[in-house]
Amino acid sequence: MNAANRAFFADHARLADGWRQDVLIEWNDDGTLVRVTPDSAAPAGVERAKGPVVPGMPNLHSHAFQRAMAGLTEYRASVADTFWSWRDLMYRFAARIGPESLADIAHWLYVEMLKAGYTSVCEFHYVHHAPDGAPYANRAELAERVVDAAERAGIGITMLPVLYEYSGFNKGAPREDQRRFLNTPDTLLALIDTLARARPENGARRYGVAPHSLRAVSGESLAAVLEGLDAHFGHAPVHIHVAEQVAEVEACVAATGHRPVEWLLERFNVDERWCLVHATHIDANECARLASSGAVAGLCLTTEANLGDGVFPSHDYLDAGGRIGIGSDSHVGVDWRSELRLLEYGQRLCRRQRNVLASATQSRPADRLFDAALDGGAHATGRPVGALAPGLRADWLVLDDAHPGIGGHARETWLSSAVFCEHGESPIRDVFVSGRKVVDARRHAQEDEALTRYRAALRGLLG
Ligand SMILES: [Zn+2]
Repeated sequence: MNAANRAFFADHARLADGWRQDVLIEWNDDGTLVRVTPDSAAPAGVERAKGPVVPGMPNLHSHAFQRAMAGLTEYRASVADTFWSWRDLMYRFAARIGPESLADIAHWLYVEMLKAGYTSVCEFHYVHHAPDGAPYANRAELAERVVDAAERAGIGITMLPVLYEYSGFNKGAPREDQRRFLNTPDTLLALIDTLARARPENGARRYGVAPHSLRAVSGESLAAVLEGLDAHFGHAPVHIHVAEQVAEVEACVAATGHRPVEWLLERFNVDERWCLVHATHIDANECARLASSGAVAGLCLTTEANLGDGVFPSHDYLDAGGRIGIGSDSHVGVDWRSELRLLEYGQRLCRRQRNVLASATQSRPADRLFDAALDGGAHATGRPVGALAPGLRADWLVLDDAHPGIGGHARETWLSSAVFCEHGESPIRDVFVSGRKVVDARRHAQEDEALTRYRAALRGLLG
């Protein structure tokens, strides 16, 4: 580790053991924290935080292109509109995406994420090929555009190219509108290899793999892609969509005799490298087993609500010691505060109780969920993030002392105010990633240009 040569001082910062005062944060040239020292004196000339400092939040699930669809599917096309009818619309939209439009959408999305306090993103990237299904001359063309957009905006990324082979269980032939997504384990591993040669892993960038779902990948392919991944990238992150829909669970039971999460736990060594995205429909047995596996349940509350997926049993899962993280998924909202609020509110509405996700040791749900989402999000990224501690990335947020929900409160309620209250502008003022200030007084230096290009891309797609 290089010597610390950069420093920042916070009157209050949230460390692993809670709020601490007079914290000197020091990091090195490659953006890694070297010392985090509470009860320090501020060295002369060091920049001081304009409010309380908290670790940056990882966003563990994103389909960048879907940002441009937000708001376009909020009308009734049939009396039985479901996830599946939404998916048809999404496929039609995906068919129009090209390298330029994807680059511009992803860049704007990542600027929005940073402004909202997400400092890392896991990109579950499945549109790989040209509209006719033929690979681009560079097989990794679209994934590379997304990785470049992240670097340009200044957000850390875990790129997870998606393995997609079938339209359903029992190796159903893929539909024509799925042809842009298709790979075999070998062609997907070649894509990841191409990508990693062109854009090598570094402190802000990591690669993993995303078998799309048990609907879209066979057991043999899943084993093959994991074996190939291990050979090239070691114990890299593995993300999979699982049990988002009741129909998916029923089809899995019909095809295999097992529920999806149960099937996965029986056949694979599901451990802390795994992120099971949604995992909405699990029974008590799956809940207990998943909780003890160390895997992360990737919860995307605003998207799950938008798509009418159902409610994940977060109370029982957290009480069993389960690991969670949050993602903005389809990007109907890009704000970790909304995800955590809805996580608690879903339980309140179902149970007709308040403060459901508090615990025996943490009476405030906002604090418990914030800490849980940092820990689970960090595991899902496979990158050293999620806390202010030596050896981890220098990623943090400054809450605004001038905001009435922060400056007017005692420190015990800063996170409650940030998560549960919506009064005008966000309390997040400044955002640092790898020690670099990428959002200053709620502005990202590239936001005007990024928005102009995003709007032009949207006009092109909708024209
Ligand atoms: Zn997803």
